[in-house]
Amino acid sequence: MAIRPVILYPDPRLKVVCPAVEAIDDATRAVAQNLLDTMDAGPPRTVGIAAPQIGASTRVVLVDTSRSPKHPGGHGLLALVNPRVIASEGDQFFREGCLSIPDYTANIRRRRSVTVEALTLDGEAMRVDAEGFEAVVLQHEIDHLDGILFLDRVSNVKTDLFQRKVR
Ligand SMILES: [Zn+2]
Repeated sequence: MAIRPVILYPDPRLKVVCPAVEAIDDATRAVAQNLLDTMDAGPPRTVGIAAPQIGASTRVVLVDTSRSPKHPGGHGLLALVNPRVIASEGDQFFREGCLSIPDYTANIRRRRSVTVEALTLDGEAMRVDAEGFEAVVLQHEIDHLDGILFLDRVSNVKTDLFQRKVR
């Protein structure tokens, strides 16, 4: 498949509520493969990506926290179609970044643990229980499907938003 250019904030395509995948077909699997290729080509610590970030307005995300040197673990590579959080517990703060917002990071309050229901690329129902960093990444990527960016969840831009150092 193909590496796609990552769409950057404030592109309006990042603010769209994506429609659900009605039937998982070759087009769905192509989106997932393009997401994987784009994630592989991104910065080395990239742990998640969502379809609208490569211009596909559909509900597909990839999460792989095993790529994080700082917070490894979790379930390895997850390719989720129509994911939704069906249960959550607790609160935590994590410093988040985003491929689509390369110049900033922010401390964001998220749920500490989540249960996510989704379909696999084979159309099988699946459920993931995640906590800590993996739970953060799942919430971040699912937010993308609803047109929500971490910038929308910064509670105090003076204390919680950080400009990245020039690389
Ligand atoms: Zn993001």
